[in-house]
Amino acid sequence: MVMSEIFGSLVFNETVMQERLPKYTYKELKTCIANGDPISLSCATVIANAMKDWAIEKGCTHYTHWFQPMTGITAEKHDAFIQPTADGKVIMEFSGKELIKGEPDASSFPSGGIRATFEARGYTAWDPTSYAFIKDGTLCIPTAFVSYTGEVLDKKTPLLKSMEALSNKACKILKLFGKNVDKVTTTVGPEQEYFLIDKSVYEKRKDLIFTGRTLFGAPAPKGQELEDHYFGTIKQRVVKYMADLDMELWKLGILAKTKHNEVAPSQHELAPIFSQSNVATDANQLTMEMMKKIASRHNMVCLLHEKPFDGVNGSGKHNNWSMSTDKGENLLEPGDTPEDNAQFLLFLAAVIKAVDDYQDLLRVSVASAGNDHRLGANEAPPAIVSMFLGEELDGILTAIAEDRTYSKRARCDYEIGVSCLPKFKKDTTDRNRTSPFAFTGNKFEFRMLGSAFSISGPNIILNTIVAESLDQFANELEGAEDLMSAVKALVKKTFIAHKRIIFNGNGYSDEWVKEAKKRGLLNLASTPEAIPYFKSPKNVALFEKHGIFSPLEVESRTEILIENYCKVVNIEALTMIDMANKEILPAVTTYINELTATAINAKSLGINATAQTATAKLLSDLCDKAMKTLKKLKDSVHKAEGIGNIEDQAMSYRNDVLVAMDELRKLADEMEVNTAEKYWPIPTYGDLLFSVKE
Ligand code: ADP
Ligand code: MG
Repeated sequence: MVMSEIFGSLVFNETVMQERLPKYTYKELKTCIANGDPISLSCATVIANAMKDWAIEKGCTHYTHWFQPMTGITAEKHDAFIQPTADGKVIMEFSGKELIKGEPDASSFPSGGIRATFEARGYTAWDPTSYAFIKDGTLCIPTAFVSYTGEVLDKKTPLLKSMEALSNKACKILKLFGKNVDKVTTTVGPEQEYFLIDKSVYEKRKDLIFTGRTLFGAPAPKGQELEDHYFGTIKQRVVKYMADLDMELWKLGILAKTKHNEVAPSQHELAPIFSQSNVATDANQLTMEMMKKIASRHNMVCLLHEKPFDGVNGSGKHNNWSMSTDKGENLLEPGDTPEDNAQFLLFLAAVIKAVDDYQDLLRVSVASAGNDHRLGANEAPPAIVSMFLGEELDGILTAIAEDRTYSKRARCDYEIGVSCLPKFKKDTTDRNRTSPFAFTGNKFEFRMLGSAFSISGPNIILNTIVAESLDQFANELEGAEDLMSAVKALVKKTFIAHKRIIFNGNGYSDEWVKEAKKRGLLNLASTPEAIPYFKSPKNVALFEKHGIFSPLEVESRTEILIENYCKVVNIEALTMIDMANKEILPAVTTYINELTATAINAKSLGINATAQTATAKLLSDLCDKAMKTLKKLKDSVHKAEGIGNIEDQAMSYRNDVLVAMDELRKLADEMEVNTAEKYWPIPTYGDLLFSVKE
């Protein structure tokens, strides 16, 4: 098959719709999407039928409403197309009603108390703006998930709402610049990092199976210090995996483009070409799912956890973000004409203001138990949100703030003030890898996301906070007598008020932590510290104003996030206890037994068994300490479980449980180093990180 036949072959996209839908149905669908109107049942019936015929031709027997509950992953419940007939046979049917609405028994999805207090039912509603597709012989219908009483229970609906909010406000600004733009879309290109290890070693590690990360493990003799993995030659097994993965993603219409080895051994990255935020979100969810599924076909396991291994880099997800008009203009493209530059500087100022005003929300949007191991650990940006603009933009904004001419360009016309932006190519922006939020030529790159995240949450926040800045700007500029001087004054004022958020230095350094504190920036080091900010009055007001979340929805989402943190740490603690009791301590005991038996035998022959005795003693002492720490860990879990207030409970998981886990790990890792290999019951870091050999 040639590429043109492969790409999108499993997607019910424009081409298929034009081929298979009657002209008037296609037109009605398009009009409804453009105007945001509901689709009539008669139209849906025709579409459902066409979808079914297409899917059956491709070998499908089932359909599912595919949705994104607040677990951060996707959910599906499969129904067969079959309908019984009077003569005891079946026909394949799919009605308009089944396309439009589904009613999964939803009581087991997290709702943060919403459904408990109302009604257990949840509905899925067809989202016609995202194409249906085929996965594993099932027609998947992208849907939104809401409760009986209308509260939103998923991650997709608020994303769509935030895109609309930003679009409305951005259009208002563009009108001031004399542009007739009906719609602005936000665009996202998420770079996805992951690890691949051999299935045989994975299956021997309960911690990887239950928690996605290793809870024990002394460092391997070789880690990432030689820097030989990043962009290194890709191993044949991985090459085949990546080719297979690309092919499956292309069939699903996903623009998988770039792939390479990452910093840590066994770590890799995949980046697609960017698309509009909701499409990019669906695509990223499918990408993560495919990464896992296809790894299994190749006898490997794909780890998407943020920190599968201590001591080598963890995995993140870079969220490249911009805004563009329906005419194809990227609003973060600096451009070279004065008017466009003024417009660009205004949008830039809107982002700067948004990031400073809502540092807390951006931090919350990337908070999770897994990501806590990365942020601030010298491999990922710190937990402090700041922005990198690069020398050139920084110079220009500083010049505006100080009422001077930007000196790098002699010919700039300062009278217009904001027109002096030189056209610069993407490559002239310095790369600052340590910044959480960096301008990279014509987009911002939000780098704090963890690899396992749905990109939905961070993009809901980004879109909403920028919509808020734009709204304030529009109100301020509307009615201005001289737009250009009003814009100039606004950019100047904004930059002066928010320049504390801009930091072009090394974000990994300790000096930055001190400096950020001086500047009054937030440093929310862990998830339990960050999450409560989500429901602060200013943030509740923001979400309500833009119609993203109701106060009840904010409350419930806060609860889900904290609850999830507690559950994750709890599972980790229980897994550690289990592994220590059932695998590690018995193994070490067996080895001690061999050592002491050898020592006794040796001594009976008059041989001085000093080494055996010393090792036995060392390991025995470690076992004693481990037993005590195990008790401490169990007690701390017990204590945390007993705390009624969920925020206090999360704090206890962080300050007591995780601390005891760390102590236990240190002891076990020391045992590992001192125990003969054949006695060690689980694959070591060397076995895991270098398990994919050729
Ligand atoms: P790097 O590793 O240098 O950061 P990559 O090329 O791996 O860069 O990834 C850059 C990502 O940014 C790609 O997914 C790309 O499609 C995306 N991107 C480019 N332009 C935009 C834009 N206007 N909006 C959103 N994402 C964009
Ligand atoms: Mg990047």
